[in-house]
Amino acid sequence: MFIESFKVESPNVKYTANEIHSVYSYETTELVHENKNGSFQWTVKPKTVEYEFKTQTSVPKLGVMLVGWGGNNGSTLTGGVIANREGISWETKDKVQQANYFGSLTQASSIRVGSYNGEEIYAPFKSLLPMVNPDEIVFGGWDISDMNLADALARAKVFDIDLQKQLRPYMESMVPLPGIYDPDFIAANQGSRANNVIKGTKREQVQQVINDIKEFKEKSKVDKVVVLWTANTERYSNLVVGLNDTMESLLASLDKNEAEISPSTLYAIACVLENVPFINGSPQNTFVPGLIDLAIRRNSLIGGDDFKSGQTKMKSVLVDFLVGAGIKPTSIVSYNHLGNNDGMNLSAPQTFRSKEISKSNVVDDMVSSNGILYEPGEHPDHVVVIKYVPYVGDSKRAMDEYTSEIFMGGKSTIVMHNTCEDSLLAAPIILDLVLLAELSSRIQLKAEGEGKFHSFHPVATILSYLTKAPLVPPGTPVVNALSKQRAMLENILRACVGLAPENNMTLEYK
Ligand code: NAD
Repeated sequence: MFIESFKVESPNVKYTANEIHSVYSYETTELVHENKNGSFQWTVKPKTVEYEFKTQTSVPKLGVMLVGWGGNNGSTLTGGVIANREGISWETKDKVQQANYFGSLTQASSIRVGSYNGEEIYAPFKSLLPMVNPDEIVFGGWDISDMNLADALARAKVFDIDLQKQLRPYMESMVPLPGIYDPDFIAANQGSRANNVIKGTKREQVQQVINDIKEFKEKSKVDKVVVLWTANTERYSNLVVGLNDTMESLLASLDKNEAEISPSTLYAIACVLENVPFINGSPQNTFVPGLIDLAIRRNSLIGGDDFKSGQTKMKSVLVDFLVGAGIKPTSIVSYNHLGNNDGMNLSAPQTFRSKEISKSNVVDDMVSSNGILYEPGEHPDHVVVIKYVPYVGDSKRAMDEYTSEIFMGGKSTIVMHNTCEDSLLAAPIILDLVLLAELSSRIQLKAEGEGKFHSFHPVATILSYLTKAPLVPPGTPVVNALSKQRAMLENILRACVGLAPENNMTLEYK
Protein backbone atom coordinates (compact mmCIF):
# COMPACT_ATOMS: atom_id res chain seq x y z
CA MET A 1 0.00 0.00 0.00
CA PHE A 2 1.16 3.52 -0.73
CA ILE A 3 0.57 6.51 1.56
CA GLU A 4 1.39 10.13 0.73
CA SER A 5 2.83 11.28 4.05
CA PHE A 6 3.38 10.35 7.69
CA LYS A 7 4.56 11.83 10.97
CA VAL A 8 6.79 10.09 13.50
CA GLU A 9 5.56 10.05 17.10
CA SER A 10 8.37 9.13 19.45
CA PRO A 11 9.88 10.38 22.69
CA ASN A 12 13.09 10.78 20.64
CA VAL A 13 11.59 13.20 18.16
CA LYS A 14 10.38 16.76 18.72
CA TYR A 15 8.72 18.87 16.06
CA THR A 16 8.97 22.60 16.79
CA ALA A 17 7.76 25.51 14.68
CA ASN A 18 10.84 25.44 12.46
CA GLU A 19 12.83 22.34 13.39
CA ILE A 20 12.72 18.58 13.72
CA HIS A 21 14.95 17.46 16.56
CA SER A 22 15.79 13.76 16.85
CA VAL A 23 17.88 11.69 19.21
CA TYR A 24 19.29 8.66 17.50
CA SER A 25 21.23 5.59 18.67
CA TYR A 26 23.82 4.73 16.03
CA GLU A 27 24.66 1.03 16.28
CA THR A 28 28.16 0.47 15.00
CA THR A 29 31.26 -1.59 15.75
CA GLU A 30 34.72 -0.97 17.06
CA LEU A 31 37.52 -3.17 15.73
CA VAL A 32 40.58 -4.14 17.69
CA HIS A 33 43.60 -5.86 16.13
CA GLU A 34 45.89 -7.04 18.87
CA ASN A 35 48.57 -9.53 19.75
CA LYS A 36 47.10 -12.19 22.04
CA ASN A 37 49.52 -14.88 23.19
CA GLY A 38 51.84 -14.40 20.24
CA SER A 39 49.30 -14.19 17.41
CA PHE A 40 47.33 -11.25 16.04
CA GLN A 41 43.59 -11.46 16.38
CA TRP A 42 40.65 -9.31 15.30
CA THR A 43 38.00 -8.51 17.88
CA VAL A 44 34.73 -6.82 16.97
CA LYS A 45 32.94 -4.91 19.70
CA PRO A 46 29.43 -3.63 19.05
CA LYS A 47 29.04 -0.06 20.19
CA THR A 48 26.26 2.48 20.38
CA VAL A 49 26.82 6.19 19.85
CA GLU A 50 24.07 8.67 20.66
CA TYR A 51 23.55 11.28 17.96
CA GLU A 52 21.29 14.28 17.81
CA PHE A 53 19.99 15.71 14.54
CA LYS A 54 18.36 19.07 13.97
CA THR A 55 16.65 19.73 10.64
CA GLN A 56 15.35 23.16 9.69
CA THR A 57 11.90 22.61 8.24
CA SER A 58 11.35 25.91 6.46
CA VAL A 59 12.07 25.23 2.81
CA PRO A 60 13.85 28.06 0.96
CA LYS A 61 13.11 29.40 -2.47
CA LEU A 62 15.92 27.75 -4.43
CA GLY A 63 17.90 29.08 -7.35
CA VAL A 64 19.98 26.66 -9.41
CA MET A 65 22.75 27.99 -11.62
CA LEU A 66 24.08 25.52 -14.15
CA VAL A 67 27.50 25.84 -15.73
CA GLY A 68 26.81 24.67 -19.29
CA TRP A 69 23.14 25.71 -19.02
CA GLY A 70 22.61 25.62 -22.79
CA GLY A 71 23.93 22.07 -23.18
CA ASN A 72 21.85 18.94 -23.60
CA ASN A 73 21.55 18.27 -19.88
CA GLY A 74 20.96 21.90 -18.96
CA SER A 75 18.24 22.49 -21.54
CA THR A 76 16.59 19.10 -20.90
CA LEU A 77 16.42 19.68 -17.15
CA THR A 78 15.13 23.24 -17.48
CA GLY A 79 12.49 22.21 -20.03
CA GLY A 80 11.51 19.17 -17.98
CA VAL A 81 10.95 21.21 -14.84
CA ILE A 82 8.91 23.84 -16.72
CA ALA A 83 6.80 21.08 -18.28
CA ASN A 84 6.11 19.63 -14.83
CA ARG A 85 5.39 23.04 -13.33
CA GLU A 86 2.99 23.99 -16.13
CA GLY A 87 1.37 20.52 -16.28
CA ILE A 88 2.26 20.21 -19.96
CA SER A 89 1.29 17.10 -21.91
CA TRP A 90 2.22 16.33 -25.51
CA GLU A 91 1.34 13.88 -28.22
CA THR A 92 3.72 11.11 -29.18
CA LYS A 93 3.00 8.39 -31.72
CA ASP A 94 2.04 6.11 -28.80
CA LYS A 95 -0.06 8.28 -26.50
CA VAL A 96 -0.58 11.62 -24.84
CA GLN A 97 2.40 11.89 -22.49
CA GLN A 98 2.26 13.82 -19.21
CA ALA A 99 5.33 15.51 -17.75
CA ASN A 100 6.83 13.55 -14.86
CA TYR A 101 9.95 13.20 -12.75
CA PHE A 102 10.67 9.51 -13.44
CA GLY A 103 14.31 8.68 -12.75
CA SER A 104 14.56 11.06 -9.79
CA LEU A 105 15.27 9.32 -6.49
CA THR A 106 13.71 12.13 -4.46
CA GLN A 107 10.65 12.68 -6.67
CA ALA A 108 9.78 9.25 -8.05
CA SER A 109 11.04 6.62 -5.60
CA SER A 110 9.54 5.39 -2.35
CA ILE A 111 10.63 4.16 1.06
CA ARG A 112 9.12 1.51 3.30
CA VAL A 113 7.66 2.95 6.48
CA GLY A 114 6.40 -0.27 8.09
CA SER A 115 3.69 -2.93 8.10
CA TYR A 116 -0.01 -2.45 8.71
CA ASN A 117 -2.45 -5.37 8.95
CA GLY A 118 0.06 -7.64 7.29
CA GLU A 119 0.73 -5.27 4.42
CA GLU A 120 3.90 -3.36 3.63
CA ILE A 121 3.35 0.42 3.65
CA TYR A 122 5.41 2.69 1.39
CA ALA A 123 5.59 6.47 1.14
CA PRO A 124 7.34 8.87 -1.26
CA PHE A 125 11.06 9.30 -0.62
CA LYS A 126 10.45 13.04 -0.49
CA SER A 127 8.00 12.64 2.40
CA LEU A 128 10.89 11.80 4.77
CA LEU A 129 11.90 15.44 5.29
CA PRO A 130 10.69 18.77 3.91
CA MET A 131 12.40 19.30 0.55
CA VAL A 132 12.26 21.98 -2.11
CA ASN A 133 9.55 21.29 -4.68
CA PRO A 134 11.45 21.10 -8.00
CA ASP A 135 8.59 22.89 -9.79
CA GLU A 136 9.54 25.98 -7.80
CA ILE A 137 13.25 26.08 -8.67
CA VAL A 138 14.43 29.17 -10.54
CA PHE A 139 17.06 28.27 -13.15
CA GLY A 140 19.92 30.36 -14.42
CA GLY A 141 23.56 29.86 -15.35
CA TRP A 142 26.43 30.26 -17.73
CA ASP A 143 27.38 28.91 -21.13
CA ILE A 144 30.20 29.72 -23.53
CA SER A 145 27.52 29.58 -26.25
CA ASP A 146 24.99 32.44 -26.21
CA MET A 147 22.15 30.37 -27.66
CA ASN A 148 18.84 30.88 -25.84
CA LEU A 149 17.38 27.85 -24.08
CA ALA A 150 14.54 27.29 -26.57
CA ASP A 151 17.04 27.04 -29.43
CA ALA A 152 19.36 24.97 -27.24
CA LEU A 153 16.48 22.53 -26.63
CA ALA A 154 16.04 22.23 -30.39
CA ARG A 155 19.80 21.79 -30.89
CA ALA A 156 19.83 18.99 -28.30
CA LYS A 157 17.10 16.99 -30.13
CA VAL A 158 16.13 15.21 -26.93
CA PHE A 159 12.46 16.14 -26.43
CA ASP A 160 9.64 15.35 -28.87
CA ILE A 161 8.89 18.20 -31.24
CA ASP A 162 5.41 18.87 -29.84
CA LEU A 163 6.89 19.33 -26.38
CA GLN A 164 9.65 21.57 -27.73
CA LYS A 165 7.06 23.81 -29.36
CA GLN A 166 5.07 24.14 -26.16
CA LEU A 167 8.19 24.96 -24.17
CA ARG A 168 9.51 27.59 -26.59
CA PRO A 169 7.57 30.57 -25.15
CA TYR A 170 8.89 29.82 -21.66
CA MET A 171 12.51 29.28 -22.73
CA GLU A 172 13.14 31.81 -25.50
CA SER A 173 13.96 34.59 -23.08
CA MET A 174 16.38 32.44 -21.07
CA VAL A 175 19.89 33.32 -22.22
CA PRO A 176 22.99 31.98 -20.46
CA LEU A 177 25.49 34.40 -18.93
CA PRO A 178 28.95 34.45 -20.54
CA GLY A 179 31.12 31.56 -19.26
CA ILE A 180 34.80 31.08 -18.47
CA TYR A 181 36.41 29.55 -21.56
CA ASP A 182 39.90 28.09 -21.81
CA PRO A 183 40.51 26.10 -24.99
CA ASP A 184 43.39 24.30 -23.33
CA PHE A 185 40.97 22.36 -21.10
CA ILE A 186 38.26 21.10 -23.48
CA ALA A 187 38.47 19.59 -26.94
CA ALA A 188 39.49 21.87 -29.82
CA ASN A 189 36.23 20.89 -31.56
CA GLN A 190 34.31 23.06 -29.06
CA GLY A 191 35.97 26.28 -30.26
CA SER A 192 33.22 27.22 -32.73
CA ARG A 193 30.68 27.21 -29.91
CA ALA A 194 32.52 29.71 -27.74
CA ASN A 195 30.91 33.06 -28.56
CA ASN A 196 29.91 34.06 -25.03
CA VAL A 197 32.95 34.28 -22.80
CA ILE A 198 34.11 36.19 -19.74
CA LYS A 199 37.20 38.26 -20.48
CA GLY A 200 40.00 39.19 -18.10
CA THR A 201 42.45 37.50 -15.76
CA LYS A 202 41.54 34.40 -13.78
CA ARG A 203 41.04 36.50 -10.64
CA GLU A 204 38.70 38.80 -12.61
CA GLN A 205 36.83 35.80 -14.02
CA VAL A 206 36.26 34.45 -10.50
CA GLN A 207 35.05 37.89 -9.42
CA GLN A 208 32.64 38.00 -12.38
CA VAL A 209 31.16 34.62 -11.39
CA ILE A 210 30.73 35.88 -7.82
CA ASN A 211 28.97 39.01 -9.14
CA ASP A 212 26.77 36.83 -11.38
CA ILE A 213 25.67 34.70 -8.43
CA LYS A 214 24.87 37.78 -6.33
CA GLU A 215 22.93 39.40 -9.14
CA PHE A 216 20.99 36.21 -9.92
CA LYS A 217 20.08 35.83 -6.27
CA GLU A 218 18.84 39.38 -6.08
CA LYS A 219 16.95 39.44 -9.38
CA SER A 220 15.24 36.07 -8.99
CA LYS A 221 14.54 36.71 -5.29
CA VAL A 222 15.73 33.28 -4.20
CA ASP A 223 16.90 32.54 -0.66
CA LYS A 224 19.62 30.07 -1.61
CA VAL A 225 21.66 29.20 -4.68
CA VAL A 226 23.28 25.90 -5.66
CA VAL A 227 25.74 25.83 -8.58
CA LEU A 228 26.29 22.67 -10.62
CA TRP A 229 28.80 21.99 -13.40
CA THR A 230 27.16 20.23 -16.35
CA ALA A 231 29.50 21.79 -18.90
CA ASN A 232 31.88 19.83 -21.06
CA THR A 233 34.35 17.39 -19.62
CA GLU A 234 37.73 19.02 -19.17
CA ARG A 235 41.12 17.37 -19.27
CA TYR A 236 42.71 16.62 -15.92
CA SER A 237 44.62 19.49 -14.31
CA ASN A 238 48.21 18.71 -13.38
CA LEU A 239 48.67 18.47 -9.64
CA VAL A 240 51.75 20.46 -8.71
CA VAL A 241 53.15 21.23 -5.28
CA GLY A 242 53.08 24.98 -4.78
CA LEU A 243 50.48 25.45 -7.52
CA ASN A 244 47.26 23.79 -6.38
CA ASP A 245 48.13 21.55 -3.42
CA THR A 246 46.88 23.82 -0.63
CA MET A 247 44.40 26.63 -0.22
CA GLU A 248 47.26 29.15 0.01
CA SER A 249 49.01 27.90 -3.13
CA LEU A 250 45.77 27.80 -5.13
CA LEU A 251 44.78 31.35 -4.18
CA ALA A 252 48.33 32.59 -4.86
CA SER A 253 48.24 30.84 -8.27
CA LEU A 254 44.94 32.57 -8.97
CA ASP A 255 46.60 35.94 -8.39
CA LYS A 256 49.49 34.90 -10.63
CA ASN A 257 46.99 33.94 -13.38
CA GLU A 258 48.55 30.46 -13.56
CA ALA A 259 47.59 28.65 -16.75
CA GLU A 260 46.95 25.31 -15.01
CA ILE A 261 43.82 26.42 -13.11
CA SER A 262 40.89 25.02 -15.08
CA PRO A 263 37.64 26.89 -15.70
CA SER A 264 35.73 24.40 -13.53
CA THR A 265 38.11 25.05 -10.63
CA LEU A 266 37.61 28.81 -11.13
CA TYR A 267 33.81 28.46 -10.83
CA ALA A 268 34.33 26.25 -7.77
CA ILE A 269 36.64 28.81 -6.14
CA ALA A 270 34.01 31.53 -6.72
CA CYS A 271 31.31 29.36 -5.12
CA VAL A 272 33.38 28.40 -2.10
CA LEU A 273 34.36 32.05 -1.54
CA GLU A 274 30.64 32.93 -1.69
CA ASN A 275 29.68 29.91 0.45
CA VAL A 276 27.45 28.56 -2.29
CA PRO A 277 27.29 24.74 -2.73
CA PHE A 278 29.15 23.61 -5.86
CA ILE A 279 28.59 20.19 -7.46
CA ASN A 280 30.67 18.76 -10.30
CA GLY A 281 28.74 16.54 -12.72
CA SER A 282 31.69 15.82 -15.01
CA PRO A 283 34.70 13.56 -14.49
CA GLN A 284 37.61 16.00 -14.41
CA ASN A 285 39.54 16.78 -11.22
CA THR A 286 37.96 20.17 -10.57
CA PHE A 287 38.50 19.50 -6.89
CA VAL A 288 42.29 19.73 -6.81
CA PRO A 289 43.69 19.34 -3.27
CA GLY A 290 43.93 23.13 -2.83
CA LEU A 291 40.25 23.51 -3.64
CA ILE A 292 39.23 20.75 -1.21
CA ASP A 293 41.38 22.46 1.43
CA LEU A 294 39.67 25.80 0.68
CA ALA A 295 36.19 24.24 0.91
CA ILE A 296 36.99 22.49 4.19
CA ARG A 297 38.46 25.60 5.75
CA ARG A 298 35.49 27.70 4.67
CA ASN A 299 32.99 24.93 5.47
CA SER A 300 31.40 25.30 2.05
CA LEU A 301 29.71 22.30 0.42
CA ILE A 302 31.38 20.63 -2.56
CA GLY A 303 30.21 17.38 -4.17
CA GLY A 304 30.98 15.23 -7.20
CA ASP A 305 32.26 13.83 -9.44
CA ASP A 306 30.48 12.83 -12.67
CA PHE A 307 26.78 11.94 -12.78
CA LYS A 308 26.21 8.21 -12.26
CA SER A 309 23.54 7.86 -14.91
CA GLY A 310 23.66 4.71 -17.01
CA GLN A 311 26.40 2.19 -17.62
CA THR A 312 28.24 2.89 -14.37
CA LYS A 313 25.04 2.78 -12.35
CA MET A 314 24.33 -0.66 -13.79
CA LYS A 315 27.91 -1.72 -13.08
CA SER A 316 27.67 -0.65 -9.45
CA VAL A 317 24.57 -2.82 -9.13
CA LEU A 318 25.67 -5.84 -11.14
CA VAL A 319 29.17 -6.25 -9.75
CA ASP A 320 27.84 -5.75 -6.22
CA PHE A 321 25.32 -8.53 -6.88
CA LEU A 322 27.91 -10.88 -8.44
CA VAL A 323 30.57 -10.43 -5.77
CA GLY A 324 27.87 -10.54 -3.08
CA ALA A 325 26.66 -13.86 -4.52
CA GLY A 326 30.15 -15.35 -4.32
CA ILE A 327 30.70 -15.09 -8.08
CA LYS A 328 34.00 -13.72 -9.37
CA PRO A 329 33.84 -11.13 -12.18
CA THR A 330 37.14 -11.47 -14.08
CA SER A 331 36.57 -9.28 -17.14
CA ILE A 332 34.35 -6.23 -17.54
CA VAL A 333 34.34 -4.52 -20.93
CA SER A 334 32.17 -1.49 -21.62
CA TYR A 335 31.62 0.06 -25.03
CA ASN A 336 29.70 3.29 -25.59
CA HIS A 337 28.88 5.23 -28.64
CA LEU A 338 27.02 8.49 -28.69
CA GLY A 339 26.58 11.40 -31.06
CA ASN A 340 25.86 14.46 -28.93
CA ASN A 341 28.20 17.36 -28.23
CA ASP A 342 29.48 15.59 -25.09
CA GLY A 343 30.48 12.66 -27.33
CA MET A 344 32.24 15.00 -29.72
CA ASN A 345 34.15 16.61 -26.87
CA LEU A 346 35.09 13.18 -25.49
CA SER A 347 36.55 12.19 -28.86
CA ALA A 348 39.72 14.12 -27.91
CA PRO A 349 42.20 11.89 -26.01
CA GLN A 350 42.72 14.24 -23.04
CA THR A 351 39.02 14.64 -22.22
CA PHE A 352 38.34 10.93 -22.86
CA ARG A 353 41.08 10.16 -20.33
CA SER A 354 39.11 12.02 -17.62
CA LYS A 355 36.05 9.89 -18.37
CA GLU A 356 38.13 6.71 -18.44
CA ILE A 357 39.58 7.44 -15.01
CA SER A 358 36.19 8.28 -13.53
CA LYS A 359 34.65 5.07 -14.88
CA SER A 360 37.57 2.85 -13.92
CA ASN A 361 37.51 2.68 -10.10
CA VAL A 362 33.84 1.92 -9.76
CA VAL A 363 34.19 -1.75 -8.81
CA ASP A 364 37.17 -1.38 -6.46
CA ASP A 365 35.26 -1.43 -3.18
CA MET A 366 33.23 -4.47 -4.22
CA VAL A 367 36.31 -6.41 -5.35
CA SER A 368 38.26 -5.63 -2.20
CA SER A 369 35.28 -6.71 -0.05
CA ASN A 370 35.74 -10.38 -0.94
CA GLY A 371 39.09 -12.01 -0.15
CA ILE A 372 37.67 -15.46 -0.92
CA LEU A 373 37.32 -14.56 -4.59
CA TYR A 374 40.27 -12.19 -5.06
CA GLU A 375 43.88 -12.33 -3.90
CA PRO A 376 45.14 -9.06 -2.39
CA GLY A 377 45.79 -6.64 -5.27
CA GLU A 378 43.96 -8.82 -7.80
CA HIS A 379 41.45 -7.02 -9.98
CA PRO A 380 39.19 -7.94 -12.90
CA ASP A 381 40.29 -6.74 -16.34
CA HIS A 382 38.26 -3.58 -16.84
CA VAL A 383 38.20 -1.66 -20.13
CA VAL A 384 36.07 1.31 -21.17
CA VAL A 385 35.69 2.41 -24.81
CA ILE A 386 33.81 5.54 -25.96
CA LYS A 387 33.26 6.39 -29.63
CA TYR A 388 31.63 9.42 -31.24
CA VAL A 389 28.97 8.48 -33.79
CA PRO A 390 27.10 11.69 -34.76
CA TYR A 391 24.03 9.97 -36.23
CA VAL A 392 22.79 8.53 -32.92
CA GLY A 393 22.75 12.00 -31.30
CA ASP A 394 21.88 12.00 -27.62
CA SER A 395 20.65 8.42 -27.86
CA LYS A 396 23.63 6.70 -26.31
CA ARG A 397 24.39 3.04 -26.83
CA ALA A 398 26.07 1.21 -23.98
CA MET A 399 27.21 -2.37 -24.41
CA ASP A 400 28.71 -4.31 -21.55
CA GLU A 401 30.21 -7.75 -21.27
CA TYR A 402 30.77 -9.26 -17.82
CA THR A 403 32.64 -12.53 -17.62
CA SER A 404 32.79 -14.25 -14.26
CA GLU A 405 34.19 -17.44 -12.81
CA ILE A 406 31.51 -19.59 -11.22
CA PHE A 407 31.34 -23.00 -9.48
CA MET A 408 34.14 -25.45 -10.25
CA GLY A 409 35.93 -23.35 -12.85
CA GLY A 410 32.87 -22.64 -14.97
CA LYS A 411 32.50 -19.32 -16.77
CA SER A 412 29.43 -17.15 -17.02
CA THR A 413 29.18 -14.26 -19.49
CA ILE A 414 26.46 -11.65 -19.23
CA VAL A 415 26.01 -9.17 -22.08
CA MET A 416 23.87 -6.05 -21.82
CA HIS A 417 22.80 -3.45 -24.32
CA ASN A 418 21.18 -0.20 -23.33
CA THR A 419 19.87 2.45 -25.73
CA CYS A 420 18.71 5.62 -24.08
CA GLU A 421 18.76 9.41 -24.35
CA ASP A 422 21.70 10.33 -22.18
CA SER A 423 20.21 13.63 -21.06
CA LEU A 424 16.96 11.98 -19.91
CA LEU A 425 19.09 9.93 -17.53
CA ALA A 426 21.20 12.86 -16.35
CA ALA A 427 18.47 15.51 -15.83
CA PRO A 428 16.68 13.83 -12.88
CA ILE A 429 20.07 13.11 -11.30
CA ILE A 430 20.96 16.81 -11.49
CA LEU A 431 17.66 17.54 -9.81
CA ASP A 432 18.38 15.11 -6.97
CA LEU A 433 21.88 16.50 -6.53
CA VAL A 434 20.69 20.06 -6.05
CA LEU A 435 17.68 19.11 -3.90
CA LEU A 436 19.75 16.89 -1.61
CA ALA A 437 22.61 19.40 -1.42
CA GLU A 438 20.08 22.02 -0.33
CA LEU A 439 18.45 19.67 2.18
CA SER A 440 21.76 18.59 3.67
CA SER A 441 22.64 22.22 4.31
CA ARG A 442 19.59 22.42 6.63
CA ILE A 443 20.71 19.45 8.76
CA GLN A 444 22.93 19.80 11.82
CA LEU A 445 24.19 16.94 13.95
CA LYS A 446 26.31 16.12 16.95
CA ALA A 447 27.58 12.90 18.44
CA GLU A 448 27.67 12.29 22.20
CA GLY A 449 30.65 14.12 23.64
CA GLU A 450 30.59 16.78 20.95
CA GLY A 451 29.75 20.14 22.47
CA LYS A 452 28.13 21.83 19.52
CA PHE A 453 25.94 20.96 16.58
CA HIS A 454 27.72 21.11 13.25
CA SER A 455 26.84 20.62 9.60
CA PHE A 456 27.88 17.54 7.62
CA HIS A 457 31.47 17.50 6.40
CA PRO A 458 31.72 20.02 3.52
CA VAL A 459 32.75 17.21 1.15
CA ALA A 460 29.22 15.93 0.63
CA THR A 461 29.46 12.11 0.56
CA ILE A 462 25.69 12.04 1.15
CA LEU A 463 25.40 12.68 -2.62
CA SER A 464 27.44 9.63 -3.61
CA TYR A 465 24.46 7.61 -4.92
CA LEU A 466 24.32 10.12 -7.75
CA THR A 467 28.00 10.24 -8.73
CA LYS A 468 30.32 7.89 -10.60
CA ALA A 469 33.47 8.73 -8.68
CA PRO A 470 32.27 9.95 -5.29
CA LEU A 471 34.40 12.69 -3.81
CA VAL A 472 35.16 11.88 -0.17
CA PRO A 473 37.06 13.74 2.53
CA PRO A 474 40.76 12.80 2.69
CA GLY A 475 41.21 9.47 4.50
CA THR A 476 37.61 8.29 4.10
CA PRO A 477 36.51 5.07 2.33
CA VAL A 478 34.84 5.37 -1.08
CA VAL A 479 31.62 3.38 -1.47
CA ASN A 480 30.49 2.72 -5.03
CA ALA A 481 27.94 -0.09 -4.53
CA LEU A 482 24.61 1.50 -5.42
CA SER A 483 22.50 -0.28 -2.80
CA LYS A 484 24.86 0.80 -0.02
CA GLN A 485 24.87 4.38 -1.28
CA ARG A 486 21.08 4.45 -1.34
CA ALA A 487 20.82 2.86 2.10
CA MET A 488 23.28 5.42 3.51
CA LEU A 489 21.25 8.32 2.18
CA GLU A 490 17.86 6.94 3.16
CA ASN A 491 19.00 5.87 6.61
CA ILE A 492 20.56 9.25 7.40
CA LEU A 493 17.31 10.97 6.45
CA ARG A 494 15.39 8.42 8.52
CA ALA A 495 17.66 9.18 11.48
CA CYS A 496 16.72 12.84 11.17
CA VAL A 497 13.11 11.90 11.98
CA GLY A 498 14.08 9.28 14.56
CA LEU A 499 13.37 6.20 12.44
CA ALA A 500 15.60 3.14 12.66
CA PRO A 501 17.62 2.26 9.56
CA GLU A 502 15.83 -0.03 7.14
CA ASN A 503 17.19 -3.48 8.07
CA ASN A 504 14.82 -5.69 6.06
CA MET A 505 14.62 -8.19 8.95
CA THR A 506 10.78 -8.26 9.09
CA LEU A 507 11.08 -10.11 12.40
CA GLU A 508 7.41 -9.45 13.11
CA TYR A 509 6.62 -12.18 10.55
CA LYS A 510 9.25 -14.71 11.59
P1 NAD B 1 26.76 19.34 -23.84
O1 NAD B 1 28.00 19.42 -24.64
O2 NAD B 1 25.47 19.23 -24.57
O3 NAD B 1 26.64 20.59 -22.88
C1 NAD B 1 27.73 21.20 -22.27
C2 NAD B 1 27.56 22.71 -22.37
O4 NAD B 1 28.62 23.31 -21.65
C3 NAD B 1 27.65 23.24 -23.79
O5 NAD B 1 26.50 24.00 -24.09
C4 NAD B 1 28.93 24.11 -23.80
O6 NAD B 1 28.79 25.21 -24.64
C5 NAD B 1 29.04 24.49 -22.34
N1 NAD B 1 30.38 24.78 -21.82
C6 NAD B 1 31.55 24.18 -22.08
N2 NAD B 1 32.53 24.71 -21.34
C7 NAD B 1 31.98 25.67 -20.57
C8 NAD B 1 32.47 26.55 -19.59
N3 NAD B 1 33.75 26.53 -19.25
N4 NAD B 1 31.61 27.40 -19.00
C9 NAD B 1 30.29 27.41 -19.34
N5 NAD B 1 29.76 26.60 -20.27
C10 NAD B 1 30.60 25.73 -20.88
O7 NAD B 1 26.98 18.10 -22.85
P2 NAD B 1 25.88 17.33 -21.96
O8 NAD B 1 25.43 16.15 -22.73
O9 NAD B 1 24.88 18.28 -21.44
O10 NAD B 1 26.81 16.81 -20.79
C11 NAD B 1 27.38 17.73 -19.90
C12 NAD B 1 28.42 17.08 -19.03
O11 NAD B 1 27.81 16.10 -18.20
C13 NAD B 1 29.55 16.38 -19.79
O12 NAD B 1 30.79 16.67 -19.22
C14 NAD B 1 29.23 14.94 -19.59
O13 NAD B 1 30.38 14.11 -19.63
C15 NAD B 1 28.63 14.96 -18.20
N6 NAD B 1 27.87 13.76 -17.93
C16 NAD B 1 26.72 13.49 -18.63
C17 NAD B 1 26.02 12.32 -18.37
C18 NAD B 1 24.74 11.98 -19.09
O14 NAD B 1 24.18 10.95 -18.91
N7 NAD B 1 24.22 12.86 -19.90
C19 NAD B 1 26.50 11.43 -17.42
C20 NAD B 1 27.66 11.74 -16.72
C21 NAD B 1 28.32 12.91 -16.98
